[in-house]
Amino acid sequence: MAIQYNNPLFEVVRNYDRCINCRVCERQCANGVHYFDEKAGKMLSDETKCVDCQRCVCLCPTHALKIIPNPNSFRKNNNWKQSLLCEIYKQAESGGILTSSMGNPEEFPIYFDKILINASQVTNPSIDPLREPMETKVYLGSRPQGVQKDASGKIICDLPVHLWLNMPIMFSAMSYGSISYNAHKAMAMASKKLGIFYNTGEGGLHEDFYPYGANTIVQVASGRFGVHQGYLDAAAAIEIKIGQGAKPGIGGHLPGEKIVGDIAKTRMIPEGKEVVSPAPHHDIYSIEDLRQLVLSLKEATAYTKPVIVKIAAVHNVAAIASGIARSGADIIAIDGYRGGTGAAPTRTRDNVGIPIELALAAVDSRLRDEGIRDNVGLVVAGSVRSSADIVKAICLGADACYIGSAALIAMGCHLCRTCHTGNCNWGIATQKPELVKRLNPEIAAERLYNLVTAWNHEIQEMMGGMGINSIESMRGNRLMLRGVGLNGKELEILGIKHAGE
Ligand code: SF4
Ligand code: SF4
Repeated sequence: MAIQYNNPLFEVVRNYDRCINCRVCERQCANGVHYFDEKAGKMLSDETKCVDCQRCVCLCPTHALKIIPNPNSFRKNNNWKQSLLCEIYKQAESGGILTSSMGNPEEFPIYFDKILINASQVTNPSIDPLREPMETKVYLGSRPQGVQKDASGKIICDLPVHLWLNMPIMFSAMSYGSISYNAHKAMAMASKKLGIFYNTGEGGLHEDFYPYGANTIVQVASGRFGVHQGYLDAAAAIEIKIGQGAKPGIGGHLPGEKIVGDIAKTRMIPEGKEVVSPAPHHDIYSIEDLRQLVLSLKEATAYTKPVIVKIAAVHNVAAIASGIARSGADIIAIDGYRGGTGAAPTRTRDNVGIPIELALAAVDSRLRDEGIRDNVGLVVAGSVRSSADIVKAICLGADACYIGSAALIAMGCHLCRTCHTGNCNWGIATQKPELVKRLNPEIAAERLYNLVTAWNHEIQEMMGGMGINSIESMRGNRLMLRGVGLNGKELEILGIKHAGE
């Protein structure tokens, strides 16, 4: 007897008074949920295939569809949840590791939601961002240690290599392969227009995107896919990926069916072969080894490009960051445990790593205590969901934030968390040509531009409210934050007071 491991998670509710049998839902669903039954003369659904991506709901011309959680699920049990039962059935059948996408959805605390921002009232008045200049430009890299003069007494104006951002927001690393050509193109176009940067992830840089090099961060990951001299030369900065928030301690994985055509060419790997990047870099087992790679990449690019080292937020992140700040790297990127991914083992995604807010505060405090905070820029990622999260992150010590899931959502993602299947109905996490073309890169770029511009306006509003007129003055300004409902240890790590203090 087949075990019911695929008890549908969702129910498709079709209002037959509204349905006109246009079959749009059937054509739009890459999972094959909807079909027309000739005998019954109406549309029916195979709900076991539904992932709740909401594509059919959005495109149904008569608003005849609703997707709801399946009420006919397993008997309620707070310990043995339905998802756990289904996962055990699946593993009992397959003997394999479970795979998931996007970020950790479990009920761990979200510290950004337990932190509130200050606002000026009588003394230290607020600033009106509509009438007074607000500086949101960010200098990302190591900073000069005081004013330096040459032998003739002239001030030396040469700055260490760095990135200039018009606003403290960049698009996170997402590889061509994990997301589509059109999604990549949209981020490249939006970055150029915004004066910020997007990140290739570990999939190499498609030759069509070389013209966007001045707004591109290229990644050097453990598999070294797509890494060659032209790739390094094309970029504005190089990121060494040591770890990723969604899957700390393990490598990347791209199924063979996604390695097609240009993806294989861009990654410099054979078509159709499954690609697994190793968990560690096989030439890095110490900070000294990391320094070798940092300096090699700088040497290869004539010391003209900043080098970023990206790590996952893990238990001893502050000590690791302290080592990286001494490795010659210009920027540290830290990715929290809620960070998104195209594919990760479910257990790792949901149980490994620490919240970005605690990691960031711990790293900033440690680098300040050691007097090396200005050796590096600090970028954080891992579910930065709004302009308020960005303001809080900067007050906790970040220079800028990477956004990934929010950028995908701006392009149309509905967080169905099935990117690993390659059937993204929104044309984002897929390589199927008929799905890729659903995402218009020009429209998606415009939406990204609008999102980041809107957030930047909101950041200026909040800065003005605090009586602060530059990101630089807000960086690490933890006096501007208060916690609500946090215990003493959490407040201590975050370095903030409780509301009311
Ligand atoms: S898209 Fe809407 S109206 Fe068209 S067949 Fe599907 S449910 Fe019916
Ligand atoms: S990118 Fe596509 S597949 Fe992935 S979560 Fe978003 S809608 Fe779903």
